[in-house]
Amino acid sequence: MKKVLILGGGFAGVEAAIYLRKENYEVTLVSDRDFFYIYPTSIWIPTRETEYEKICVDLKELKEAHGFNLIVDGVTDISAKNGEVTLESGIVLNKYDDLVIAMGASKMKHKGIDNTLSICGAPEQALLLRDKVDHIISMGEGKICFGFGGNPNDSSAVRGGPGFELMFNVHNLLKKKGIRDKYELTFFAPMAEPGKRMGPKALKMMDTFFGMLDIKQHFGKKIKAFEKDGIIFEDDSKLDSDFTMFIAAGDGHEVIKKSDLPLNDAGFIKIDDHCNVRFSDKDTFCDGEDMSRPHNIYAIGDIAALEGHEWRAKQGHIAEVMARNVAHNIKEKDNGGESFLGYAEHINILCVMDTGDGASFVYRDDKRAFMIPMPIVGHWLKKGWGVYARYSKLGKIPRIPGM
Ligand SMILES: Cc1cc2nc3c(=O)[nH]c(=O)nc-3n(C[C@H](O)[C@H](O)[C@H](O)COP(=O)(O)OP(=O)(O)OC[C@H]3O[C@@H](n4cnc5c(N)ncnc54)[C@H](O)[C@@H]3O)c2cc1C
Repeated sequence: MKKVLILGGGFAGVEAAIYLRKENYEVTLVSDRDFFYIYPTSIWIPTRETEYEKICVDLKELKEAHGFNLIVDGVTDISAKNGEVTLESGIVLNKYDDLVIAMGASKMKHKGIDNTLSICGAPEQALLLRDKVDHIISMGEGKICFGFGGNPNDSSAVRGGPGFELMFNVHNLLKKKGIRDKYELTFFAPMAEPGKRMGPKALKMMDTFFGMLDIKQHFGKKIKAFEKDGIIFEDDSKLDSDFTMFIAAGDGHEVIKKSDLPLNDAGFIKIDDHCNVRFSDKDTFCDGEDMSRPHNIYAIGDIAALEGHEWRAKQGHIAEVMARNVAHNIKEKDNGGESFLGYAEHINILCVMDTGDGASFVYRDDKRAFMIPMPIVGHWLKKGWGVYARYSKLGKIPRIPGM
C-alpha cells in the first residue's frame, strides 16, 4: 500500500486524510494539536452561545473512524530536496510516497498586537475573548473596536467576515441585556472599503447594517500600532478602545518560510491548478526526479498561494475542494492517468455570515455577486452546518455531495 504523509489537521488535512483513505492509501497525519477545530462556528464562543468543546473534534476519533495513523507533534522543518520532515520531538519522517502540506497560515505581526485578541488566531483565543466580553459587560459601559488588516503581498489572505460576525453577535448580546446604549462599537480597517471583495451589493448592505445597528466606521487609515487603550493610525490619530478584537491578515507559515519550497511574496507555497507544488523547471530533487513534472509534493488550504481573481479568498470550502482533488490526483498519477482535477474553477466566495439573530448568504463568483438576508433561519442554518461538519466528518451521518 502506498504511503501518504499529511502535515496539518485542519479542514484541508483532515479532508485529504478521509479521501485518501477512501482511495486505500496508508495515511499518516501529523498535527500539532490533538483536535480538528471548526473555525466558522467558533464565532459564538465569546458570546457564550456555544462551548469551546463543541467546536473541537478529537483527532483520535477521526483517526478511528477513517483508519489513518495520527502523530500529535509539531513540524519544525521540511526539506523537499532530501524528502524529509522533521518534528519537534526530533523524529524525522522520510518513508512516504507522497507528501501533502496543509498547515494553514501564520498571521501578520503588527506592533503591539498583544494588546488585541483575534477570533481567527489560536483556538484558545476564543476563550480569552469570552473573558474579555464578560469583563466589559461587568464594567457596565465601554468602547469596543473590531477590525481586520491586509497583507500587501497577497490579497487572498485577508479575513474580515468573522470580525463582522463577532461584532454583530456582541451587539445582539448587549441588546438582549438591555445595555447596548452604554457601549460604543466601532469597526476599523485600513482599506477604504472593507468587505469590497464580497461585491458591490454586499458592501452597500453592510453599510446599511452598520447604520441600523449604530456601529461606527473607521476605514481607510493604515494601522501603526495597537496600545492597551486604543489603536494608533498612520497619521498618529488614536481610536480609543477598552477592548480590541483584531484579525491580522494571513502570512506564510514560519516552517514554510525557512523551507526549500517555492513561495510567493507573502510566503505561501506556489502550486499549480492540481495543487502540485510548482518548483522551477530546473529543480531536481533527492532521487534526481524532475520537479517540473507532476511529482509527489502537494500544498492545500490556507498554506497554498491561491491564484485567480483579485477578490479570491482563502476559505474552508476551497481547502476541502483542494484536499479532495489531491486525493484524486495522487491516485490518477499512480495509475498513470492524466485526468487531474483543478481548484481554479471552484474559486468563489461562499459564506453564511451570521448576524447573531439571523444571517446573510454571501456569494461571489466570476459571473455573480450577491448577498441575501436570511433573518432568523440563517442563524440556525449556520448552527446546523456546524453539527453537520462534526458528525459527517466522523462518518456518523452521510456527506452531502460538495459539502
Ligand atoms: C473564525 C473563522 C471563521 C471562518 N468562517 C469561514 C466560513 O464561514 N466559510 C469558509 O469557507 N471558511 C471560513 N473560514 C476559513 C477557514 O476556516 C479556513 O480557510 C480553513 O480553516 C483553512 O483550512 P486549513 O486546513 O488550510 O488550515 P487550518 O484550519 O488553519 O488548519 C491548519 C492545521 O495545521 C496544524 N498545524 C499548524 N502548524 C503546524 C505545525 N508546525 N506542525 C503540525 N501541525 C501544524 C494546525 O494545528 C491546524 O490543525 C473561517 C476562518 C475563521 C478563523
